[in-house]
Amino acid sequence: MTAPVMKNDRLTVTIEDLTHDGNGVAKVDGYPLFIAGALPQELVQVHVLKVLKNYGFAKVLEILEPSADRVIAPCDYFVQCGGCQLQHLSYEGQLKWKQRMVENVMKRLGKIDAPVLPVKGMDEPWHYRNKSQIPFAQGEIAPIAGFYKTKSHTIVDMERCLIQTAEADVIMADFKRELTALGIRPYNEEAHKGMLRHVVIRKGRTTNEVMVVVVTTARKFPQAEATVAKIRELVPNVTSIVQNINPNKTNVIFGDETVTLWGKDVIEDTIGDVRFEISARSFYQVNPIQTEVLYKQALDYAQLTGNERVIDAYCGIGTISLFLAKKAKHVMGVEIVPQAIEDAKRNAELNGFTNTYFEAGPAEEIIPRWYKEGKEADVLVVDPPRKGCDEALLNTIIEQKPKRVVYVSCNPATLARDLRILEDGGYQTQEIQPVDMFPHSTHCEAVALLELAL
Ligand code: SAH
Repeated sequence: MTAPVMKNDRLTVTIEDLTHDGNGVAKVDGYPLFIAGALPQELVQVHVLKVLKNYGFAKVLEILEPSADRVIAPCDYFVQCGGCQLQHLSYEGQLKWKQRMVENVMKRLGKIDAPVLPVKGMDEPWHYRNKSQIPFAQGEIAPIAGFYKTKSHTIVDMERCLIQTAEADVIMADFKRELTALGIRPYNEEAHKGMLRHVVIRKGRTTNEVMVVVVTTARKFPQAEATVAKIRELVPNVTSIVQNINPNKTNVIFGDETVTLWGKDVIEDTIGDVRFEISARSFYQVNPIQTEVLYKQALDYAQLTGNERVIDAYCGIGTISLFLAKKAKHVMGVEIVPQAIEDAKRNAELNGFTNTYFEAGPAEEIIPRWYKEGKEADVLVVDPPRKGCDEALLNTIIEQKPKRVVYVSCNPATLARDLRILEDGGYQTQEIQPVDMFPHSTHCEAVALLELAL
């Protein structure tokens, strides 16, 4: 097919949808044009920038009819920073779009007809992130710190971020200004020189405890003492200051070695009434308010009466397992990262649970073995990474037929694919509840309830 548009054409188009990057999509005789900054239902005049065989790119010249949901993005860095994609869409508009998106993906990719409920959003969708990973670099005149531009490693020098904590703002703005006086050189990625790579800030929402992790290129950090004093002065509620050493030429933030410079090795937080210890590198959901909403939904769908044996696959540090353990007879969690399983065991102990069991390994291997050993489940919860469940695990579910499956998903496309496999294997999807874990981004989490069809 030849594209119906040419480079430098000026056209008037109606935006039909948004991509996962938050770009508007318009169709010209079926040919998709991606248009940054444009929103669904808008009539826009665009300038075509690039024409490829199956799709093209254009930029907005004028918005002729703006969407009723368009707002002025409240963050000054929105256009440059790659962190948020949807700040120009009202929060209500974002939630409506996410529900429609999940619905479309279910129908289109999975032929799943179960109702997709309205997205559970936040009352106050700002400053929700409990963790910020801030890269530092040397700017032309002074050190810079902020977040990366979309799909790049160029830092947008920032003073604040509307989705992170006040403590992280202080590190981004005030600590940055102290670096020169402290004698700390930020890392230069290209030259592989300098000391300070990232500062990671984590906060326990309910405890107010803060951990600051200073990621350096070398173990030898002569400014350690002065850095601790400065951070304690700037962030009075800090309870843990940690150095992580990453000497490698890599995009990965953390290195293998971690030493506590001051205070405790961990911070604590609670979700519902379950307490968690979080160390510098352990996985922990970044939006604690919505995590509780998500886990409550999983708990609701599990419909526990106290007699059920539950398996939590892809359990991470056991957050969902512990949330369910109160209402279940027994919970067994499996997770591929051994360190996370150690955390899960410690957290189970910290909360006094005696009806939980955790094992490290691939869910698709461990769960079939459990079944062989007679360790069966009435309810199976899965919370896989973006690529979805391993097919071997789905086959085990279909063979073993737990009466209920609760599927927690961070990627609607793989959710739709896996629900189709489970439906073909004898399950019926009852309902899908999306939960907004990442306001102002295009990501959408969803929980699905499946029951064995009669
Ligand atoms: N349920 C947890 C974590 C979900 S994230 C929470 O809510 O906090 C998905 C998890 O799946 C990650 O911790 C990842 O390490 C783990 N994982 C990835 N592949 C896996 C596999 N094949 N078997 C078991 N766990 C796996």
